[in-house]
Amino acid sequence: MVLAQLGGSIARALQQMSNATIIDEKVLSECLNEISRALLQSDVQFKLVRDMQANIKRIVNLDDLAAGHNKRRIIQQAVFNELCKMLDPGKPSFTPKKGKTSVVMFVGLQGSGKTTTCTKYAYYHQKKGWKPALVCADTFRAGAFDQLKQNATKTKIPYYGSYMESDPVKIAVEGVETFKKENRDLIIVDTSGRHKQEAALFEEMRQVSEATKPDLIIFVMDSSIGQAAFDQAQAFKQSVAVGAVIITKMDGHAKGGGALSAVAATKSPVIFIGTGEHMEEFEVFDVKPFVSRLLGMGDWSGFMDKIHEVVPTDQQPELLQKLSEGSFTLRLMYEQFQNILKMGPIGQVVFSMLPGFSAELMPKGHEKESQAKIKRYMTMMDSMTNAELDSTNPKLMNESRIMRIARGSGRSVRDVTEMLEEYKRLAKIWSKMKGLKIPKKGEMSALSRNMNA
Ligand code: GDP
Repeated sequence: MVLAQLGGSIARALQQMSNATIIDEKVLSECLNEISRALLQSDVQFKLVRDMQANIKRIVNLDDLAAGHNKRRIIQQAVFNELCKMLDPGKPSFTPKKGKTSVVMFVGLQGSGKTTTCTKYAYYHQKKGWKPALVCADTFRAGAFDQLKQNATKTKIPYYGSYMESDPVKIAVEGVETFKKENRDLIIVDTSGRHKQEAALFEEMRQVSEATKPDLIIFVMDSSIGQAAFDQAQAFKQSVAVGAVIITKMDGHAKGGGALSAVAATKSPVIFIGTGEHMEEFEVFDVKPFVSRLLGMGDWSGFMDKIHEVVPTDQQPELLQKLSEGSFTLRLMYEQFQNILKMGPIGQVVFSMLPGFSAELMPKGHEKESQAKIKRYMTMMDSMTNAELDSTNPKLMNESRIMRIARGSGRSVRDVTEMLEEYKRLAKIWSKMKGLKIPKKGEMSALSRNMNA
């Protein structure tokens, strides 16, 4: 079951319960059974669903429900909280520090997207000023080194590997040593996969891990593997010290439930998700928006609620109109930046409620840096022409325009490129508004506002 269907099923179960005149034990059980069925079909592991059901029954007070409180909201909030709890293993993963050498080892089955994800992870950090390097210790899959080499060359990331050497441990050690000497701060080791979990794979992983002593081991899992997610994740965790999870192929027919199972099995957080084959299709994972989406609550009426809350009233109709036309221009981004700065310190808190504005653009605890970054972006945008600010054609921003803007704003070409990347990222998220009906303020769902708070 894909995410949207899951949200629909849960919404129906809640609606049916709300329609009942009296909410007793039986009605609540029926509703929870329905929700559990939907979660199981979304590949959340059986035991997790069963425990969640028991927890919710314990938390939800039937007297409250009988007293005419918003029943749907109470149950939905409980489901939301339980799912968030499942995705939060209680402790963050090891976070590499810029400028200090860290070794990060990637493990996962063949075809999970491991090699692609290694480069995405390296590229993501490189764009933020890190000095990553890639080591290909996958000697099992013919073509793995070529693939890594190709990706690394495209993204201008140094790599290490061998066509001749068949011992993955030797390559891993040599690669890590080489890059340590070169003071690379993020050394990423790609290891072999197999088609299925088997002893030889786990033994090899253990040896590579022992020899390279990684600071972090990331387990890469394909989101479409279904109910096998829990067992697979657990098998990897039992062999090596998995500290974080990346879920790939969350685009297309992804079933979100596997992520919950992987976290439960590894007791490690999901840190990123892969959303496509390209290098940029890689997102920081945020628990609450993900669960909102899983429950169909991260719907766009919730998004519009937030726009009503954070964007000044006189700007709302134009913004919503543009978004529904699918045209999130640089000018719209500029105006939102203006709004953030105008609101002072609270601006960032308020705007972080909008998709795309939180973890990436304005991470918590880095308010000063975020403000400086937004101002920097705006200075560069001040050097853009009206045509550039109003264009929806990504190809318009060619090299000579980028150089002109860099010169005009006294910034580097790299800075301008970073700002444009940021714009592309936001535009991709916000383009999902295209074609959607824009409800009037009175029609906004109070529920989704509550759930996403
Ligand atoms: P490995 O065997 O685990 O190293 O897997 P690869 O990195 O070779 O990836 C297997 C296939 O999955 C390739 O065709 C990738 O392009 C594709 N892939 C990897 N990540 C994603 C993703 O997030 N979304 C989609 N749609 N495809 C992906």
